[in-house]
Amino acid sequence: MQEQFTNEQLVQVAKEFGTPLYVYHAEKIKEQYQKLTSTFSDQDVTFFYASKALTNINILRYIKEIGCNVDCSSINEVRLALHAGFEPMRILYTSNGVDFAEIEEAATAGVHINIDSLSNLEKFGKKYGHTYPVGIRIRPNIMAGGNLKISTGHEGSKFGIPVDQLDKIEEVVQSTNLYIRTLHIHTGSDIKDPDVFVKGIEVLFELIPHFPELEIIDLGGGFKVPYKSDEEETDIKLLAKKIKKTFDDHPIAGNKKFKVWFEPGKFLVSEAGYLVANVTVLKDNGTTVFAAVNSGLNHLIRPMMYDAYHRIENISNPDGNKKVYTVTGNICETDTFGTDRELNEIREGDLLVFYNAGAYGFEMASNYNSRFRPAEVLIKNNKASIIRKRDDIEDLLRNQIEQH
Ligand code: PLP
Repeated sequence: MQEQFTNEQLVQVAKEFGTPLYVYHAEKIKEQYQKLTSTFSDQDVTFFYASKALTNINILRYIKEIGCNVDCSSINEVRLALHAGFEPMRILYTSNGVDFAEIEEAATAGVHINIDSLSNLEKFGKKYGHTYPVGIRIRPNIMAGGNLKISTGHEGSKFGIPVDQLDKIEEVVQSTNLYIRTLHIHTGSDIKDPDVFVKGIEVLFELIPHFPELEIIDLGGGFKVPYKSDEEETDIKLLAKKIKKTFDDHPIAGNKKFKVWFEPGKFLVSEAGYLVANVTVLKDNGTTVFAAVNSGLNHLIRPMMYDAYHRIENISNPDGNKKVYTVTGNICETDTFGTDRELNEIREGDLLVFYNAGAYGFEMASNYNSRFRPAEVLIKNNKASIIRKRDDIEDLLRNQIEQH
């Protein structure tokens, strides 16, 4: 479970920088990365941080500093990664439904590219032929991940080129003389069971004979992290063992020595992040006691969007009697963070912390209800630094053209 700061430390940063506030713990990111690299140290495995989880430039620079590469899902993420100082060979761009111009820009930058549609694959082949090695995102028709909203590899999913369209892929590859170096899958998020990755590899193994220049098997991200006290993260040691065995046992893959790539997002940054908010209003509606905070779906949308669970604690009154609350935001929509949670007695003005807020937290924040997005603070070597200031009214007016 995520527990790197004491309540006192979180209260202290909240006092110093105000709320709502995202707080990140640098060393936790490093710990998670090292867990991956040390476990896979006897295999040719490379990790690309799925930056869509959290793109603050200071986080990207820290990811670079600890030796991790970066995975991007838009050309702007590629631009940010370049801005953070990543060499193009350490950047992977996994496009999905994008205008071909984005792919051309990525190729001009010289980054690794995965393509997820026949249409863009053909355009890529016509423009670059055999000159630019490229990856194909395959939809392996595997149901995986914590719930349907975060599943991406099943039949009916928009992601990737369905594996059953292999003949069409081959037609494009042959007619445009493409250089296929990578096969990619990403089947979902919150994948606890290592066998899901094994199943994915087995689907890709069937394709190996069709792509003689293949060097890389990219298995995407999706490792689970614990959100509740009785949950566990993906067993990385078991995963590493199973992956090694799956490759070693395969008659072609065992000899060919493919490189394996992963794109973890959540696993690296989820537990490193905290959202701290202030209780603005307590309201007893007869059947429910609501605790409203100065935040909402505009700052942390995961509970409303994916039914994600975020543990909540009252860090201002850790010894208070336990009572039951439904914690909501202050947005003019139903933005419930947690229903019927047993929390230490809440008083107006108390600070609540939302755990596991590092991945897809700030990154999905908006200015809905014309509210400001929170500030972000990075704590590294026990020193807290502001890495994004809180929005102000200028931010709300920026880019608006006032016609008088
Ligand atoms: N790779 C791709 C292509 C993705 O779409 C995602 C998440 O949506 C990831 C990696 C990272 O997933 P996670 O944060 O669950 O590790």
